[in-house]
Amino acid sequence: MDEIRITDLTVFANHGVLPEETALGQKFLVSLVLRRPLRRAALNGELSGTVNYAEACAFTSQFLRENTFALIESAAEALAAALLERYDIESAAVELKKPWAPVGLPLECVSVRIERSWHTAYIALGSNLGDREAYLRGAVDALAAAEGCRVGKVSSFIVTPPYGGVEQGDFLNGCLELRTRLEPGELLGLLHSIEAAAGRERLVHWGPRTLDLDIIFYDSLVLDSGELTIPHPDMANRRFVLAPLAEIAPYLRHPLTGRTVQEMLHTVEGSARGPSCAWMHSAAQGPRE
Ligand code: ADP
Ligand code: MG
Repeated sequence: MDEIRITDLTVFANHGVLPEETALGQKFLVSLVLRRPLRRAALNGELSGTVNYAEACAFTSQFLRENTFALIESAAEALAAALLERYDIESAAVELKKPWAPVGLPLECVSVRIERSWHTAYIALGSNLGDREAYLRGAVDALAAAEGCRVGKVSSFIVTPPYGGVEQGDFLNGCLELRTRLEPGELLGLLHSIEAAAGRERLVHWGPRTLDLDIIFYDSLVLDSGELTIPHPDMANRRFVLAPLAEIAPYLRHPLTGRTVQEMLHTVEGSARGPSCAWMHSAAQGPRE
């Protein structure tokens, strides 16, 4: 990916653990690597297709002077988040050097360097208690309002029969595309808090629920941490996940099997037997952005 680099911008600011550091302030050197495609801006010469580096320098300097952090780790983290929110970029690497770090020994500088990015996740939504559509719409709104999250395409919501052998009411299911700065575990925590706010209780495994939010994909990440498995381990068997997902991302490939969402859906539909696997009806119009 193309990148814009700013090296060793000097800022006098008050970050530090010691009281004299916050009282007196000291010199910091900040370097940025901002990644985004630059070809269009290069060919048509328009500043709107890139990051205005003068503005980015002014913003960075002001941000580090107006916010005070005990740790340069925290300062770098907050600056990376602010840059990702402010500019149309895919990722931001931030290096923060502290040449006057009070360690009592001669050194050139102490520094931290972090890199933070936007990620693309696909979230499956389901409800089979109460006002199902209101729960799903509420979840879309909650994700759109969450810090570090931007909702992209949202599928239509479809009525599906229950899955997993528990006798219960029909579900309303959908999928959405989420751009997020959250790490996978943080995203799961956010989904759980939105489920809890919707009155979700975990009484019966695969039982009735006001709201179920599952991570289907997170970039092309493969993860099995015990509490979190990505891609979702049962997604390829779930028509109620694949049908809405195929509306918004039919050509997305499973990172382990290499199969597209559309191919997985065709397999599940081909192996469907009897009335329990039939679609009931489509509850909403087509997908929306
Ligand atoms: P289900 O969605 O299968 O009906 P639950 O919603 O009760 O079940 O989730 C049970 C647990 O599954 C969650 O607490 C979570 O830790 C774990 N889990 C593992 N992988 C995922 C994933 N990709 N998305 C959501 N939850 C997951
Ligand atoms: Mg779940």
